[in-house]
Amino acid sequence: MSIELKHVNKKFGSFKALDDVSLKIENGELIALLGPSGSGKTTLLRVVAGLDAFDEGQVLFSGRDAQDQKTRERGVGFVFQHYALFRHMTVFDNIAFGLNVLPRNIRPSREEIRAKVMELLHLIQLEWVSERYPWQLSGGQRQRIALARALAVRPKVLLLDEPFGSLDAHVRKELRAWLRRFHDEFHITTIFVTHDQEEALEVADRIVVMNRGKLVQVGTPEDVFHNPVNSFVLSFLGNVNFFHCRLEEGKAVIGNTALEVPGLSVDHPQSAKLYVRPNQFQLSKVFTGSALKAVVEYVNPAGTIVKVNLKTESGELILVEITQEELKRLKIKKQDEVYVSLKDVTYSEYVQDNP
Ligand code: ATP
Repeated sequence: MSIELKHVNKKFGSFKALDDVSLKIENGELIALLGPSGSGKTTLLRVVAGLDAFDEGQVLFSGRDAQDQKTRERGVGFVFQHYALFRHMTVFDNIAFGLNVLPRNIRPSREEIRAKVMELLHLIQLEWVSERYPWQLSGGQRQRIALARALAVRPKVLLLDEPFGSLDAHVRKELRAWLRRFHDEFHITTIFVTHDQEEALEVADRIVVMNRGKLVQVGTPEDVFHNPVNSFVLSFLGNVNFFHCRLEEGKAVIGNTALEVPGLSVDHPQSAKLYVRPNQFQLSKVFTGSALKAVVEYVNPAGTIVKVNLKTESGELILVEITQEELKRLKIKKQDEVYVSLKDVTYSEYVQDNP
């Protein structure tokens, strides 16, 4: 099932929760809606589900106006962050619920329902908890059961609102990898709300970045990470260092230092902001001619990469990431003097000079 939103607007009083939102989601895509708190992610999901009305625009399901279809007819399965399972029902009965309440003429037989529930329990690798009650499960197990319950009625669309939001980091990572594998097997069109950029980058086919009710950028994880359309998207997707500078003859002048900026061409001198990812710096213990002098404040080698905090002569704090091999080669430690040059910049923004 494809989903299309055309110029959708929704207000709460005078507040614009969705501001001219247009988006096409292809059949079988996994889309992550990413944005800060209050940016409109849940509102967008509820509008797609038919749970909330909107003021203007159109929502189409496989090209058909969804206004004509009630929530039940849309074939939508939900999992919310705190989507409580029915406490008084066993895991088995929770998953079977959607099938048990179908009208008699389309309801599967008891044997068919049993087989379906067992198949879903097998899929989420939790066959052994079928007779337990929700309060006898861990948070991660409960969310997997909620997903199985949503899947029981064979939804054409899955809407997941921060489904792993309340879980600890380790379980989250496991479940997000599981979700990706599940999606690769079943290809149910899925919208996944998160405010965790790492989760979005890892799971989604495409990422939709929202801010203040607007879509700021839509693209593949690679695209939004490496080619952000503005500094909001850039700083939302991972750590970034930011410098005020003056661009002159292909160099960025920061304080008294002129740094070479690879790939940057400027017609005339102007003020700019430079955004540099932590892995885009080159560190050296000897002066290279085009480098900021800095002091090492902290080295954290615990992890696959090494994080180095620096303070430049003019007081800027810089976060640099280097490989373990580079750390061995450089042998830097706290209080060492180093020289920082640029391998690349992710994004630059020109600033209007005062006349
Ligand atoms: P979060 O990550 O915190 O869940 P979100 O991006 O999902 O945020 P929404 O829940 O869609 O954000 O809310 C968008 C905006 O609309 C917020 O400013 C919120 O306060 C407002 N809003 C949401 N629901 C209502 C409502 N029923 N009445 C009034 N304002 C609302």
